Amino acid sequence: MRSFVLSLAAAAALFTGCNHQPGVPVTASAETDPVMHEGDVADDPAIWTDGKETLIIGTHKKGGGLEVYDLSGKRLQSLPEGKFNNVDLRYGMEVGGKKLDIVAASNRTDDTLALYAVDPDTRKLVPIADGKIPTVAKSYGFCMYHDLGKNAYYAIVNNKEGRVVQMELFDAGNGKVGAKTVRTFDVGSQTEGCVADDETGYLYVGEEEKGVWKYAAGADQDDRRKLIDHTGKGGHLTADVEGISLYLLENGEGYLVVSSQGSHSYNLYDRKSGKFLGDFHIADGEIDGTCETDGLDVTSANLGADYPKGILVVQDGEDLPGGTQNFKIVDFRKILSALGLEK
Ligand code: CA
Ligand code: CA
Ligand code: CA
Ligand code: CA
Ligand code: CA
Repeated sequence: MRSFVLSLAAAAALFTGCNHQPGVPVTASAETDPVMHEGDVADDPAIWTDGKETLIIGTHKKGGGLEVYDLSGKRLQSLPEGKFNNVDLRYGMEVGGKKLDIVAASNRTDDTLALYAVDPDTRKLVPIADGKIPTVAKSYGFCMYHDLGKNAYYAIVNNKEGRVVQMELFDAGNGKVGAKTVRTFDVGSQTEGCVADDETGYLYVGEEEKGVWKYAAGADQDDRRKLIDHTGKGGHLTADVEGISLYLLENGEGYLVVSSQGSHSYNLYDRKSGKFLGDFHIADGEIDGTCETDGLDVTSANLGADYPKGILVVQDGEDLPGGTQNFKIVDFRKILSALGLEK
């Protein structure tokens, strides 16, 4: 035990991360390879799993497109196809008679939608966009929605002025996927992180300076909304509001997880009520802690013996020692335990 304590202290001394982090500490269990370029380049992850294999897909917002890692963090694929800001995915869209898992991202190089399918045999991402698909000027944040009632798939792109553009994906008939805009609304000011709850039909959007809004996700819905939490007095967020994702449990239960970038920490909310349940930060351990997290993703899927209750993946603004950026992987059991949410 003594040597373990000493080694942790020695490890922590190597890292000089951010200070004054609110919330309870947890530590990362694994981390990805550093992204392939220096600077503030990594932004947002998405987790794909079929229950046997898991991929962590991360964006590179300065031109490196997507990088794909396995669950141990080893880089498997690099797709340097533009300034991809945020990435999300949905399972089982029917294209040409086959059910494909679709990975999509907001490409800021030319304000288009980047679209890939996960090849079921090789686990590689293969391009599937039917030509260039324009989204919205100054495109920025991104998430996807699967309307289970209509079995319709949507790409939801927002921009630096807070405009949200919801695009329905369709089988273009040539083995590719197209998209057309079916709904737009304005949040007010710069938006980025978002996540849709397919089971309940809600869409959560982060207004970076202000807070997290809850809208109806359906394409035919209006823009009535509810403020879940905010950056002002009495709120639990410190701007920017960044990554947002959902930890799904049965019967509509689970958690909304939000990156409070300005406090280097993360908040959990009750999925049903939106009630704030607590906050945590990722502290130095054997792996360095995280600072200035942009995007995050979370899954409750059983990913095997190491992660039976799923994982949280977050972008780390500074991977130490070294100083480039990467993504940290946290065993979700640690978060449940630290916040006293074990059932
Ligand atoms: Ca950043
Ligand atoms: Ca994402
Ligand atoms: Ca941002
Ligand atoms: Ca770090
Ligand atoms: Ca971001």
